[in-house]
Amino acid sequence: MSSLPKTQRSVQINAHGGVDVIKIVTDAPVPAPADNEVLVKNTYAGMNFIDIYSRMGLYPAPSFPHTLGREAEGTIAAVGKSVRNFKVGDRVAYLGTGAQQEYTALAPLHVAHVPSAIQEGYAAAAILQGITALSFARESYEIKKGDYILVHSAAGGLGLWLVQIAKSIGARVIATASTDKKLEMAEDHGAEFLINYSTQDWVAEVKEITKDAGGGVAAVFDGVGKDTFDGDLEVVRRKGTLVSLGNASGAVPPFVIARLAPKNLKLLRPQLFAYIAEREEFEAYTKEIFDWIVEGKVKVNIHKTYPLEEVAQAQTDLGSRATTGKLILKI
Ligand code: NDP
Repeated sequence: MSSLPKTQRSVQINAHGGVDVIKIVTDAPVPAPADNEVLVKNTYAGMNFIDIYSRMGLYPAPSFPHTLGREAEGTIAAVGKSVRNFKVGDRVAYLGTGAQQEYTALAPLHVAHVPSAIQEGYAAAAILQGITALSFARESYEIKKGDYILVHSAAGGLGLWLVQIAKSIGARVIATASTDKKLEMAEDHGAEFLINYSTQDWVAEVKEITKDAGGGVAAVFDGVGKDTFDGDLEVVRRKGTLVSLGNASGAVPPFVIARLAPKNLKLLRPQLFAYIAEREEFEAYTKEIFDWIVEGKVKVNIHKTYPLEEVAQAQTDLGSRATTGKLILKI
């Protein structure tokens, strides 16, 4: 511990609001890990839409100042007395809060060793969205070979993972995105049908594509939220599943459950953490995703690596639909 600095650079907010509430403080204390915690020296942190929700207050901060960031990779800088499975110097990636800073102390429940074959930055780029996509594709709706699966904002960070995983299972993936360039990227990752939902009637298009399969998709994975929710109910086939997993366009308003009745639809609003509450669950999903990266079974797409100091620009880019794939911060 003696070689560790006392203060660090940290991405913090003191109030909810626009990107101007984001501050890079240079004198945040470096925490000492508790007996059951590890201290990670972060090298790269992932950007996620949840950072925007946290900054805006859609997901309110528990207290201020609040440090942003839900995932990072780095090396173990210190371990608490009762920690057995990690040692100083281990390369790790993790899910937790306060990841967009130089040092983060956390219990190791969601900390994973990173195989040396994974390139620097790629574990931070993959861990949250990779295991979200995999757990949702198995547990929210178990995607099956031959299923028509609709993925909204398919060229986004999570979207490209969902497309690749659904394709690898043998599903017929219908991708939506706001530009033709984004759709090309979705196609490059395995999408079979492409719909520009800015210029096309996507509900009619999905019905047409699926007309020989009950006139709808087996499941839709929707991170757009408010703007697409009503259409989703129309394009899911009888007994199908609507996985409403995010709110990029705003939160889905309160919903009358009787609307599920005409087609006996299933509706889920899952969050990753409820699928990985047990260590074994987290380990299994993380190992699978890391193995796939090493084997080249999935592509990790890094849109851009921003210096930590440019985190506000990274949030602006992510929130303005200007990006594809993953944004990461170099710390
Ligand atoms: P993305 O990289 O997918 O970026 C968001 C995308 O949403 C944009 O690129 C844009 O794609 C689309 N979008 C549609 N409408 C809007 C709008 N009004 N404003 C901004 N973007 C819009 O982000 P992430 O991969 O980080 O997250 C994708 C979704 O997945 C989010 O809703 C996020 O909350 C959710 N998520 C949920 C998790 C969970 O546990 N439930 C875990 C991880 C992510 P286009 O231009 O093609 O429309």
